[in-house]
Amino acid sequence: MENSRFIPTSCTRRDPALPDSMLKGKTALVTGSTSGIGLGIAARLAAAGANVVLNGFGDPSEVEQLRAGLAAEHRVTVTYDDADMTKPAAIAAMLRKAIAQFGAVDVLVNNAGIQHVAPVEEFPLDRWDAIIAINLSSSFHTVRAALPAMKARRWGRIVNIASAHALVASPFKSAYVAAKHGLAGFTKTVALEVAEQGITVNAVCPGYVLTPLVEKQIPDTAKARGVPEDIVKRDVLLAAQPTKKFVAIEEVAGLTVFLCSNEAASITGAVLPVDGGWTAQ
Ligand code: NAD
Repeated sequence: MENSRFIPTSCTRRDPALPDSMLKGKTALVTGSTSGIGLGIAARLAAAGANVVLNGFGDPSEVEQLRAGLAAEHRVTVTYDDADMTKPAAIAAMLRKAIAQFGAVDVLVNNAGIQHVAPVEEFPLDRWDAIIAINLSSSFHTVRAALPAMKARRWGRIVNIASAHALVASPFKSAYVAAKHGLAGFTKTVALEVAEQGITVNAVCPGYVLTPLVEKQIPDTAKARGVPEDIVKRDVLLAAQPTKKFVAIEEVAGLTVFLCSNEAASITGAVLPVDGGWTAQ
């Protein structure tokens, strides 16, 4: 997972199942939304009428193009904040700025995440610290800053993008699996704390999603193993996923936007797999 930009056009289309104006007048902040799943979610929230605060790393002119494109297409206000999710002070400043501009962050999607794969005894200390900071602690920092304004409005939606690795483990991913399991526990705890105040808190747990970094791995892995790319997809990447299909960004984004609807008001504290059956095994 890096800074590669990827946005399927289907993510930008309005969802026929949801009124365009479902989130009109609301503001959504999506961490790590300059790429991949976060960008897909930001686009769907904008399509549902929300103003959006983008966050994440990227080339400034590309990020500006994204920002302006989403604003023009959906006729909503879109801003960008480059807060680094390893820096609590920067996270607090991002939330302060968004709340000052929009009155509240009504929808908070904690999506920023990184990965590192290594045996536990060789796991670099700085990678452990960065994964715990970005994939787990950043959600604590955003949630604590967003809740007072949500409580004042008696409405809020928090969606934490976890992973199938919030429910099951794989070897060599100790920091990622620990962070994602921690995020599931954090989700349930906050859900209980705010349950009477019109605020829901849920975790969405994708299986393998074809973001650009995953796409880029396929030819390299095929070359390294001397097998065709479709074999790499099926027998290496999708070995744990019974559908043998990647989860689409729009499927993760669709569930996330549904969780932000009023119909989802009773779904809270849930840790919801979108993983092609991976965690049913
Ligand atoms: P991605 O690399 O395409 O996007 C990650 C985003 O996070 C980017 O916008 C990047 O700039 C941002 N980011 C990284 N470090 C940051 C930091 N320090 N501060 C601020 N932003 C930062 O990855 P993705 O595949 O779209 O992953 C998004 C989320 O989905 C992650 O939490 C990941 O764990 C989760 N997820 C991904 C998959 C998958 O197969 N791709 C599966 C399950 C869960």
